[in-house]
Order: sequence, then structure tokens, then C-alpha cells
Amino acid sequence: MSVVRGLLDKYGLAPKKGFGQNFLVNAAIPERIAACSREFAPGDRPSGVLEIGPGVGALTQYLAREYDRVVCVEIDRGLIPLLGEALAEYGNVTVVEADFMELDLPAFIGERFGDLIEAGGSVSVCANLPYYITTPVIMKLVEGFPANEPLPFAAFTVMVQLEVARRLAAPAGSADYGSISASLALRCRTEKLFDVAPGNFLPAPKVSSAVVGIVPHGGIREVYPDAPADPEALLRFGTRVGDMIGLAFGQRRKTLVNALSGQYPKEKTAEALRSCGLREDIRGEKLSAEDFCHLADLLGR
Ligand code: SAM
Repeated sequence: MSVVRGLLDKYGLAPKKGFGQNFLVNAAIPERIAACSREFAPGDRPSGVLEIGPGVGALTQYLAREYDRVVCVEIDRGLIPLLGEALAEYGNVTVVEADFMELDLPAFIGERFGDLIEAGGSVSVCANLPYYITTPVIMKLVEGFPANEPLPFAAFTVMVQLEVARRLAAPAGSADYGSISASLALRCRTEKLFDVAPGNFLPAPKVSSAVVGIVPHGGIREVYPDAPADPEALLRFGTRVGDMIGLAFGQRRKTLVNALSGQYPKEKTAEALRSCGLREDIRGEKLSAEDFCHLADLLGR
């Protein structure tokens, strides 16, 4: 019997589908995820990690060995006593019972890691994400912070469905490229690290999974150096680019000129596309994050 099954049985629990509970049962996987996560964090500074959904602590215990401080957010009240036992030997772990989606994230990071950040430390995010909210969680991590500043994280190392991993890391124009690929590329570089087969989980999900490394870069001005330098103007610019990506992929079968026509006159968009060196009949799915910035810049003037 696996350690995970033993722990669940002891507390009279079963994995809850509604919370996306697919627990890792092959210890080699969480060990590898924690090691990958740590590689993204600077090695010479105090380090903290936020884990979303510790479950029965399979990943948490490896994070506790890699990081100075681990803060976990778990929605399932029933798992809290179990986690207390499973993680008793790690003095650097705090488990918070909360719905991650309801957290005021900047305030939470300040509360839990503010002292570590002030001491020059880094904060990472690591999780085997519940699949029912993968994209909202990732967008909250990215869009929960002002677009005119680099994100305050060293990296997000997260396990997601394989199909989502492909979308997150997809280059412009590829079959998997979508709104989330473009939005994420504005703030981060994303790579798929390794695949994980269903048999490594309890219960086994229907689909394969993959671990991705999402590393924040310098922000919009790194993607598009002509973006406004003034912080307020940059914030407005970021919103405009985000809205444009939303419109472009909201109606991805339409040409970009048509998809944006509610917001920008068609002739103006066609002219801006020509100035960007792009075809007038192009669809949004062909534009990189940089192209969207360039277009927003031309159309915003
Ligand atoms: N980390 C564990 C592992 O790898 O075995 C569990 C991963 S399981 C896929 C997802 C975990 O996220 C579950 O423990 C689930 O209860 C928790 N969870 C689901 N929704 C959540 C939310 N909104 N906020 C915090 N935790 C959540």
C-alpha cells in the first residue's frame, strides 16, 4: 500500500474530485519537481516557496528540504490535521487553510514572505495544480501584480495537464498557441520540463501531465522596449495589450482586423498591421506578444 493511501485511510479520507485531488504516489516525481523549482531560484539568497494545494504533503516535504521557508495553501479542511502529521518533522513549513483563488495575493506574499524579501530573498511558486483551475491560478499569479513592474517571483514550477503545458509554452503561430500563451509571454518565459504519466497519481487522471517552468522576465519593456517608460503610462499600455489579446483570441476564426473592429476602425488596424510588417488578413493567433505590443502602440496613438 502506498504511503499516500495509508495516510488517507488513517484519517478516513478519499481523494475529492471536486477539489481536483490527484495525489502523487511515486516519490521520484515530487523530488524532481522540487529540485527543478530550486534550480530557478538564486542559490545564494534566502529562499521561500508558496505551494498551492499540498494535498497530503508529497511535494511539500521535498520543498521543505530545498527551501528555507515553505508556505502552503490548502482548500480542503479535512487534510489539515493529516498535513500536520505528515510534515511534523519540518519546522520551516506553514500550512494555511484557504482557497487560493480568494486570496489577496500581493498582501499574502507581503505577510508571509515580506521579511525574507526585505533580506534580499527570493520567492518561488511550486505546485501540482488542481486541474479544474489551472489557468485561473496561473493568470492570478501573473495578472495579480501590476503590469508596470516585473513579477515578484523567481519562478513558477507547476504540474498541469500535458495539453495545457503545450499551450502555456507554445510559440506564436503554432497549433497550441492561444490567449494564455501570448498573455504569459508578456511577463514570462515558459518551458515544458518533463512529462508525467497518469500512473504516478492516485487516482490516475485520464490524461497525461507535464511540469512547466515559468520564469518571469523584466516585463513588457523587455518584450517591447518602445513601451512607455512612465509607470502609469506603462500600466495603461499593459491593459491595452491584454485587452487586445483577449479580443484577438475571443474570435480566433476572424481576421484580426475584424476581431478588433468593435474597438478600432478596420482601416486603422489594417494600416497599423502594414506598419508592423504584417498582412492585413492575418489572424491573431499568428501574432507574438511583441507584435501585439507593437500593434497596441500604433493603434493607441
Ligand atoms: N500537492 C499534492 C500532490 O502533488 O500530491 C496534491 C495535488 S492535487 C492535484 C491538488 C491539491 O490542490 C489538492 O490538495 C486540493 O485539495 C488542492 N486545491 C484545490 N483547489 C484549491 C484551491 N482553490 N486553493 C487551494 N488548494 C486547492
